[in-house]
Amino acid sequence: MQKWTFVTVGIVWMMATPISSYGGALPVQERADLFLRWMNAGHLAMARVENEAQWKAVTDVTPEHQAAAAAASEAAAAFRGNAAVIREVRFLLQHRQELRPITVRQLERVLLGAAEGPMTNPRLVAERVRAETAQAAKMNSYTFRLHGRPITANQIDHLLQTSMDLKERLDVWLASKEIGPVLKPGLVRLQRLRNAVAKEVGFHDYFALSAARYGMTTEEILQMQEQFLRDLWPLYVQLHTWAKYQLAKKFHQPVPDLIPAHWINNRWAQEWTGFVPAMNLDAAIGRHSAQWVVRTAERYFTSMGLPPLPPSFWEKSDLYPVPPDSKRKKNPHASCWHIDLEHDIRALMNVEPNTQWFFTAHHELGHGHYDLSYARPEIPPLLRGAPCPAFHEAMAMLAELGASQPDYLRSLGLIQDWDEENNLIPLLLEQALSQVVPFMFWASGVMTHWEADLYARNLPPDQWNHRWWQYKRMFQGIEPPVPRGEEYCDPATKTHINDAPCYYYSYAIATVIKFQLHDYIAREILHQSPYRCTYAGNKKVGAFLRSIMEKGATEDWRTLIREATGQELSTKPMMNYFRPLLEWLKKQNAGRRIGWSGAWLPIKD
Ligand code: ASP
Ligand code: ZN
Repeated sequence: MQKWTFVTVGIVWMMATPISSYGGALPVQERADLFLRWMNAGHLAMARVENEAQWKAVTDVTPEHQAAAAAASEAAAAFRGNAAVIREVRFLLQHRQELRPITVRQLERVLLGAAEGPMTNPRLVAERVRAETAQAAKMNSYTFRLHGRPITANQIDHLLQTSMDLKERLDVWLASKEIGPVLKPGLVRLQRLRNAVAKEVGFHDYFALSAARYGMTTEEILQMQEQFLRDLWPLYVQLHTWAKYQLAKKFHQPVPDLIPAHWINNRWAQEWTGFVPAMNLDAAIGRHSAQWVVRTAERYFTSMGLPPLPPSFWEKSDLYPVPPDSKRKKNPHASCWHIDLEHDIRALMNVEPNTQWFFTAHHELGHGHYDLSYARPEIPPLLRGAPCPAFHEAMAMLAELGASQPDYLRSLGLIQDWDEENNLIPLLLEQALSQVVPFMFWASGVMTHWEADLYARNLPPDQWNHRWWQYKRMFQGIEPPVPRGEEYCDPATKTHINDAPCYYYSYAIATVIKFQLHDYIAREILHQSPYRCTYAGNKKVGAFLRSIMEKGATEDWRTLIREATGQELSTKPMMNYFRPLLEWLKKQNAGRRIGWSGAWLPIKD
């Protein structure tokens, strides 16, 4: 996850524009330049103070840090959402034709930043900031318990990845969901407050405000996500069927219609690992230290000629877990922070030497290198970010894809010789299951549709869990192991629902962009098979990535895709990549009943 000071560009601003309160003595461009000079300076200063306070609150959850974070966010909102700021930007944007595009982009960004905390209603903003901070503190300081004993998120994940005992798996899965009811009251408040903030600035609801980061409407986002899923549907139903049969064999159970959630190695069934033993790197990575994992991830980037992360990254990051009964509580979800929009970049992780953290370390450092490449004097602080959140995530996910390339893994001694012909299907299976295909049905399907209901349709709290499992069934073909009534709140067990609202579809868009970039790199830069191309050590690949990243948010995200790959946003490269897998799966599944009842789309065998 990439932590933002505030949201990005692409604007739909629907409030009536008032007349500027002071006259237009200066030419508009000059007036905008002057305004932006102050806004950029203020933004930089505010970001540093707010991020520092937030960082303390997530890495050491105490009432003092929580209060300091809330105070800093309120101060930041008082600045960004200032009514005078809003008035001036709207006046200037009325004259957008007279302004340079780079000026317009900065102004739009100021406006979206203001929209998150509009000081036309200071009480509402203060209430939201406090509710957000309290929710984060509750989530980050929560102690999971298994049979009454504290257990960390890493331990939960480890048990789900290794246990063969279905009873134990069920207990662990249930333990991981206990946080839901604790977070529900806060989420009820946030549903109201986030929507109220969005309404205050003229959006229908918070989902619509978040869609504006892409210059899109809610309907356009949903249509786009559904199109992704339609494209992937034939592959997903085959993969689902194959996985279901494998799991039934693994647990000595009859083949079910839907897959019980606790059969999957991930708390939310978002990434499906453990199906391809040849690709299991746990033993090999386990021979190393957690420090080796992070240093290796850093070498992956520097080997491509990207500059190293600054020494402060290593001094100030919080990279390793604390014991389950430690006094200090920290957020268990990985994220990367650009504290000062200059060189103070930090990662928050709980790295242990295993496969999951190996890839997560590459992912988070990908964000860090992105931050570093646009932290330069030519990029105004307001545009130090990606052109849309998906681009940041795409770069981070591309690092995971690059890090799963056989020759890279072999160079690290994590796998033996690689024979492409025999290993192609295991590689594709592993990548599809653990990084891409079920993930899309989780991201575009469950997460996005549920959040759209929550905000755009004000889904009443007594229907939350029901709707959640309805989407889990439809989109993912996953069912709860035991009935999950409204006394639970399973969506709130997912980090982003609490602290990164309406963000998750960015991962789906990022996955699509990732394959476009990968395809381009393999074909045009490395001239290698997309199944065996080694980014690590290649300076040309590094230069290509840098050319995209160093632009920051100075260009529109669609323009950037076009410039980088010569294509519009498209699932084609992703579909082509997995084509051999689809053929193989069809053969494996011959004679089996494909899919499940209640599936989102009809299933053709
Ligand atoms: N890997 C993504 C992240 O960085 C998505 C997730 O973990 O749910 O947050
Ligand atoms: Zn991320």
